[in-house]
Amino acid sequence: MKCIVHFCLTLTIVASLSAATMANSNDEPGSRNNYISNERCATVEYNRRQMERYPEFKTKREAIERFTRGYETTDNLLITIPVVFHIIWNQPDQNISEAQIQSQLDVMNKDFARLNADTVNTPAPFKPLGANTQIQFCLAQRTPDNQPTNGVTRTQTNVVSYARTDTNMYYTSLGGIDIWDRDRYMNCYVVNFTGDILGFAQQPGGPPQQDGMVIGYKYFGTIGTATPPQDKGRTVTHEAGHWLNLDHIWGDEPACAQDDNVGDTPLQAGENGGCPNFPLTDACSPNAPGVMFSNYMDYVDDACMNIFTLGQSTRMNAAVAGPRASILTSNACQPVGITPISSEVPDNFVLNQNYPNPFNPSTNITFSIPKSSFVTLKVYDISGKEVSVLVNENLQSGTYNADWNASGFATGLYFYTIEADGFRQTRKMILTK
Ligand SMILES: [Zn+2]
Repeated sequence: MKCIVHFCLTLTIVASLSAATMANSNDEPGSRNNYISNERCATVEYNRRQMERYPEFKTKREAIERFTRGYETTDNLLITIPVVFHIIWNQPDQNISEAQIQSQLDVMNKDFARLNADTVNTPAPFKPLGANTQIQFCLAQRTPDNQPTNGVTRTQTNVVSYARTDTNMYYTSLGGIDIWDRDRYMNCYVVNFTGDILGFAQQPGGPPQQDGMVIGYKYFGTIGTATPPQDKGRTVTHEAGHWLNLDHIWGDEPACAQDDNVGDTPLQAGENGGCPNFPLTDACSPNAPGVMFSNYMDYVDDACMNIFTLGQSTRMNAAVAGPRASILTSNACQPVGITPISSEVPDNFVLNQNYPNPFNPSTNITFSIPKSSFVTLKVYDISGKEVSVLVNENLQSGTYNADWNASGFATGLYFYTIEADGFRQTRKMILTK
């Protein structure tokens, strides 16, 4: 049976209730492919094909999974991942606006910080599991060649549309654009898909030349070409979750034995769509509170998903600590012209991460200086323009506080830099709505 994904989604509540039954009846060799081919996210199929093309990917996935299972840190520092959006367009409406791109970035930063307005819709039993992942995103400020950029590339292509699991957009020679170094950037391609899928991403451990995510231009951001019910930017939230090593919440198999490798998400038989009523139970979670259909890694409508769990946050932070650790030292968020963090800073010269962060409207910065000296502490916006001077005086050795009240400032990424005694140190912070 051929059915388009959006039509299927209207039926998925019914489908999910009988998912286990359906899966059993289809449980013969080859049925898995049919099962996958109707999915709106092609990540599982894409990664399976990539492992066939690049057998070492499979071995690396196994090693990454062992590392991830041993990773238990929950006290995560704020990190900011530089993002480049590659807009690949054939028809003019596919060349989406800067405002639409910004709307997508705003959604990602809210969702990953659990500052999204719709956390109120998370069912009460699941609310304590909601996580601020401490992962944020900035538009890249420098190209791989250290030239200034706004974090967006635009490529007119002769390719009318891209098939699911297509990789041609990753190559300039094939009408797309070569990926920016995946060790320094999260690459997000925005394209016109042939079929009905919303997007796909490569999970950690795969070939570097195709290690990004690809999103349909109708399912991107919250304005412009964003099309209901995928018009809240959650397709990118979902695919960024995959890029950071999350699996679908039902574990991509209909039985209850295999799960998503996350301890605090309930077992789930299959995907959910539309906008289910709570509680929703299934064969794997037969009692209330049932399955967590409002998780970003399920398939419900954008307006009905609103949570990453603490366990999913740990898994994503494990990806950043392990296979994607190179992103931690990327300077791609720093505008060209701002001096990078000095590697020669003595131990007792400390600039702490501000708290809270993200914040609105005030945050506190603490620092320690080893000996009396002239100290400056300044705030810069993402363009490198100085916007506030918090400290500009002689100070004795010791530990100090400085508050920054950002009332009236535009939301987004800021940097604060301390200079004292010939040393300089810079950190990032996020002013949110
Ligand atoms: Zn997915």
